[in-house]
Amino acid sequence: MMLLETRDLTKRFGELTAVDEVDLRIEEGDSLSIIGPNGAGKSTTINLITGLLAPTEGKVLYRGEEITGQKPHQIVQRGLSKSFQTASIFPEMTVERNAIVASLGAEHGSFSLNFLKRLVDYDDVIERAERTMKDMGLYEQRHVEAQSLPYGDKRRLEMALALASNPDLLFLDEPTAGMSPDETDATVDLIERIKEERGVTIVLIEHDMEIIFRVSDRIAVLNRGAKIADGTPDEIRGDPDVQEAYLGG
Ligand code: ADP
Ligand code: MG
Repeated sequence: MMLLETRDLTKRFGELTAVDEVDLRIEEGDSLSIIGPNGAGKSTTINLITGLLAPTEGKVLYRGEEITGQKPHQIVQRGLSKSFQTASIFPEMTVERNAIVASLGAEHGSFSLNFLKRLVDYDDVIERAERTMKDMGLYEQRHVEAQSLPYGDKRRLEMALALASNPDLLFLDEPTAGMSPDETDATVDLIERIKEERGVTIVLIEHDMEIIFRVSDRIAVLNRGAKIADGTPDEIRGDPDVQEAYLGG
C-alpha cells in the first residue's frame, strides 16, 4: 500500500520555483530521507505535504486519497504529523502538560463535540502522553518546565508533541540541528526506536550523511527544487549526478 505520493508537486514564490514537479512515493514502513543542498526545497516540500503551504501545482495523495490543500489540522487527523520548531512548545508548562495538550489537541485541532468527549476519555489521553514522554526519553523530566530543558531535550519535546497524535507518518525537519554529538546520538537512537516499536514511517530531512545512511530505507535527492535521484542508500551513494550536485564529486 502506497502511504504517500506526490505528483508534480510544485511551489513558486514569485519568480522562484522552490519545488519543481517533485514526485515522491513512500510505502508504509519504508522511511525516506530527503537530502540536498541548502535552499534545495526540502522544507518547502514537507510544508506542502503537511498543509502549511498550498502548492502552486501538483497533488498530494495519502493512502490513495487526495489531500492537496487541506488544512494542517485536517492532515494531522489523517495520521500525518510534523515536528514543528520550538513554536509548538508551551515554555511555561511542564513537559507533562505539553505532552497532554498535544495528545488531546492533535487529534482534533479545533473545538468540537469530539474534542469535549476527549476531555471525558481522559485516561486514554494521559496514557498516550505518558507513552510519548517515555519513548522520547523525557519521562524523568516530566515535571520540569519546558523552558528550563537543555536544548537537546527541548528538540526532543518537539518530536514528542508530534508523536503524541499517534501518527502513521512523521516528518522531521533537521531534528538534530544544533545538538551536541551526544545529544545527536541519543536522538538518532530514539528515532530508530519509534520507527521499530511504533511502526511509524519517517520522512527525515538531515544534513549528516552518517545519520541518513543509518536511518533511511530510501533517499530522495533534491537540487534547485527538482528531484534529481531517488533510491536505496546504496543506489544513492553510487549515483554520479548525486556525487556531482551534492556529495562534492
Ligand atoms: P531547504 O529546506 O532545502 O534548505 P527551502 O525549502 O527552505 O530549502 O527553500 C527553498 C527555496 O525557497 C529557497 O530559495 C528559499 O529561499 C525559498 N523560500 C522558502 N520559503 C519561502 C517563502 N515563504 N517565500 C519566498 N521564498 C521562500
Ligand atoms: Mg530546510
